[in-house]
Amino acid sequence: MNFETIFFDLDGTLYDNHSGLWEVIRQRMSLYMNERLGLSWDIIPELRRHYFETYGTTLRGLQLHYQVDADDYLRFVHDIPLQEYIHPDPELREMILTLPHRRFIFTNADYQHANRVLHAINLEGCFDGIIDVRAINFHCKPELEAYQLALQKAGVEDPQRVVYLDDSLSNLAPATQLGMFTILIGDHAPDPAAKLIVPKLKELRQQLPELWINHRSPFPKHE
Ligand SMILES: [Mg+2]
Repeated sequence: MNFETIFFDLDGTLYDNHSGLWEVIRQRMSLYMNERLGLSWDIIPELRRHYFETYGTTLRGLQLHYQVDADDYLRFVHDIPLQEYIHPDPELREMILTLPHRRFIFTNADYQHANRVLHAINLEGCFDGIIDVRAINFHCKPELEAYQLALQKAGVEDPQRVVYLDDSLSNLAPATQLGMFTILIGDHAPDPAAKLIVPKLKELRQQLPELWINHRSPFPKHE
């Protein structure tokens, strides 16, 4: 397989989606809307659903409608003792480090959260870069602009040589549209948007061993 770059989503992809962490982050988003913006608990779930469906993230909706400060919001929602929810997996680290590709995190979260997650699950040093919500000018997946900016940031010339991994089905369509090879992570039913479904990221090697062979990278390899 002639791929040269892999984009990894962060939350729910690099760690188990059933860790409980995402639920806690979601609770803190709602808490922010109640405490900081004075919104009633009655309307928050519906408003969050609306923002998620319309803009891709709650933050994007809050920026547009309430002019929230992104730094303040991101600090607040990610203020969580991560190590209580997510843990290192030596097999996963080993697998990622053997991938003969350039590797980037591509996330709707911010750089600080991504670094804290990588530290908590001991995947520091496994990636060439983190493309976060700031790097993509607060566009967010699944907006097409987010993917176009991510490709630019990663210096990708040919999107057909990119593998895109995400636990969210709705994030795959723009990647497919741009020509990337999409892999859905988690327990999902087959869907045409996903070229491959892998229940857990660390099973990637069993599911797609070709990714480790026939690869001729023009880029220097990692350790
Ligand atoms: Mg995710």
